Amino acid sequence: MIALNDFRRQWHDVRDAAFREFNRVGESGRYILGSSLEIFERALASLWRLRHCIGVASGLDAIEIALRALGCRTGDRVLTTPVSAFATTLAIVKLGAVPVFVDVDDSGLIDLDACEGVLSSRGDVKFFLPVHLFGHALNGKRLRHLRTRYGLILVEDCAQSIGADSEGEPAGTSGQCCATSFYPTKNLGAMGDGGAILTSDDALQIRIRALRDYGQTGKYRHEVIGYNSRLDELQAGLLAHVFLPRLEAWTARRRVIARMYVDSIHNPALRIPEPPLGSRSVWHLFPVVTPPARKMNFRAHLAEHDIASGEHYPIAIPDQSALSGVVIERASDLACARRFCSSEVTLPVHPYLTDTEVSRVIEVCNGWPG
Ligand SMILES: *Cc1c(COP(=O)(O)O)cnc(C)c1O
Repeated sequence: MIALNDFRRQWHDVRDAAFREFNRVGESGRYILGSSLEIFERALASLWRLRHCIGVASGLDAIEIALRALGCRTGDRVLTTPVSAFATTLAIVKLGAVPVFVDVDDSGLIDLDACEGVLSSRGDVKFFLPVHLFGHALNGKRLRHLRTRYGLILVEDCAQSIGADSEGEPAGTSGQCCATSFYPTKNLGAMGDGGAILTSDDALQIRIRALRDYGQTGKYRHEVIGYNSRLDELQAGLLAHVFLPRLEAWTARRRVIARMYVDSIHNPALRIPEPPLGSRSVWHLFPVVTPPARKMNFRAHLAEHDIASGEHYPIAIPDQSALSGVVIERASDLACARRFCSSEVTLPVHPYLTDTEVSRVIEVCNGWPG
């Protein structure tokens, strides 16, 4: 079976380094908020070319804490996308804020023209939470333009886009801060949950550091109602010394695989969505689009040939039943989002795929009758 993510191969590659790291953290006798986290935070901030990185317990927490630290409160309007992990919206809703869903483009990413349309016609949207989906980088200049033109507080969801850039600028550097995730399937995954917020704002990072640690500003000094949301030493140590050193090679491999797919999948019934102009993607996922009525048939065809596939995402977020009874707004009928969700299939693109497996995926895609 060709898997969507192959954690067994990854484990065999990293196990010696991981055991050493486990031992090192054990010997240190410090399991929360210690030197492994500091080392990892410095390394990730420098990779991102931002001043501060604050490790937290998950990507969801990273988004929620970032919004909270920037003043997002009950009733605040947050412009966001209907096509993402549910966590993007959950972070907004947990704060009592109101997601305002704007439609996506043909590639399933938030439509920045539609965003501009909403922002120019209503003045009550203060926050903007776009997602650099699939490993693509949204246009950074365009995001910065929207931020300054409409005086927005911009938090970028970079859970899928570590290392991506738009015309040389890292994804996540157009806003006040960005949030990312180390959920195991992400490009930089831990062996458990984890996340981080990145920013160059000195005052903001101090508020975030307090919020992640029960709102403490000094030992047993609680100035705000905070969270228990810390990236533990084991995860931070594994990330810093085992996974981060491999990220560049993993990303390069993802790019090679994506290029092979783009160059060689030629089935008129399959469309490969285009990354935004200027995006140097990190291919967290490799989406293809089928005719909506044929999606399940394509997935069955892949499965018959022992190829796993995914759906990102099968249901537009505002259509999820968890949101019935929750105050949300739709900026339009979100027709593109619904169409995208009913026709997208994700192919394996993880860095441990062999060339033979990639060729096999291509052959099976091209052999699908449509
Ligand atoms: C994974 C993901 C999240 C949530 O991250 P967790 O660490 O699982 O909480 C948020 N947004 C996007 C786009 C994601 O892919």
